[in-house]
Amino acid sequence: MATTPTRRPLPLLTTEQLRSLKPELATVIEYRKSGLSLNHVVGCPLDCGYCVRHLFGNFEMKVPRALMTDEEAVTALTGHAYFRPHRTPVQLFNRATDPMLPVVKPHTFNVLRLLDERGLTNHVLVITRWRVEPEDCDVLNSFRNIRLTILVTHSGITDQRIEPVDSAIAEARLRTLYAHADRYRTVLYWRPVVPGLNDTDAHLHQARELAGHAHATVFTGLFFRAEIAAYYKAHGIPAPYEGTARRKIMPEDSEQRILRAFHDPTNTEAPYGPLFRKTSCGVAYAHGEPDYNGHYGIRELCDICPTAQLGLCASAWQKPDSAEATREARALGAAGDVEVTDRAIIVEGLDEPPRYYLQHGFGYQCHDRAKPHHHRRHGRADVGWSPAEQPPRESP
Ligand code: SF4
Repeated sequence: MATTPTRRPLPLLTTEQLRSLKPELATVIEYRKSGLSLNHVVGCPLDCGYCVRHLFGNFEMKVPRALMTDEEAVTALTGHAYFRPHRTPVQLFNRATDPMLPVVKPHTFNVLRLLDERGLTNHVLVITRWRVEPEDCDVLNSFRNIRLTILVTHSGITDQRIEPVDSAIAEARLRTLYAHADRYRTVLYWRPVVPGLNDTDAHLHQARELAGHAHATVFTGLFFRAEIAAYYKAHGIPAPYEGTARRKIMPEDSEQRILRAFHDPTNTEAPYGPLFRKTSCGVAYAHGEPDYNGHYGIRELCDICPTAQLGLCASAWQKPDSAEATREARALGAAGDVEVTDRAIIVEGLDEPPRYYLQHGFGYQCHDRAKPHHHRRHGRADVGWSPAEQPPRESP
């Protein structure tokens, strides 16, 4: 059996350093849409211009440091109020560092081992843009219980002020991961797609070629928040959009161009191949399972999905009993009416963590009435979509 590398663990942050972190960053567990996210290592030497570390005021921390030991972190994760054994998807180091950096990798492998040794079969997502070697794949294949997915970030952006990691690294590690995959699965995480920057025909062709070295491909847009816009401005990088947005920006025209590039009419069972708009869809498909976020309720998201996967999701997707959904939502603090539509559970007064808890528990979308999702732009910003063509909102 493969053994995990035996580097010395990263030094722990001092109490004073801990106090200097933004509270969001000092909180090592955060519930995100793709899973309960564990982030007890922070700091990264990679200078990706679009990194979410800008939002945490952590971009200047280039040397990774630990906030606690791996054992303490795993205990906190599995003891978290929203953690359900075998059900809650987990993400590892996806906020403030890269899990495959040489000094972080031993922690990544150690946490995976600790989860696996507990017999947990939860999905675990590891997103990286850094190098992966064949011996790493041996370790990743060695886990017996967790359902592990390595998502390889690839943008194809050549402006080093935005994308400092050479695309060739992404291509090489994707091929390595795919060639050695046995128990884990690998996903090409094609992001951020930015119009005019990395969606030329050559970029689309390259992505399609790379997709042949992954179990699934997920494409998505750019988070362009005020903090990231400020970084672009300070470094003389042209802003890709006039305004900023709370949600990811994935313009309609870019999406259409991607779909055209992937479309193969001769493949009637999967005309777009294993291409997905949503992370959880790609992960679920790679493991031969239905989507754990219940995106099947947002049926227009599924129009590019392979037929067999549609059938899998259809058979698992079940509208929750209204009384049960109301009871659970109320127990979490929901106010006002709880409604179960054909697409989602609609709640008021719940922020993202309890909504994701409901979503992952029921395998059914859970939306905030105050932040309705638009038809065909599910969970994405309005930027790049014509207002004249905006269909009715999905929420009642
Ligand atoms: S059928 Fe829909 S929900 Fe299921 S994986 Fe495909 S796109 Fe996602």
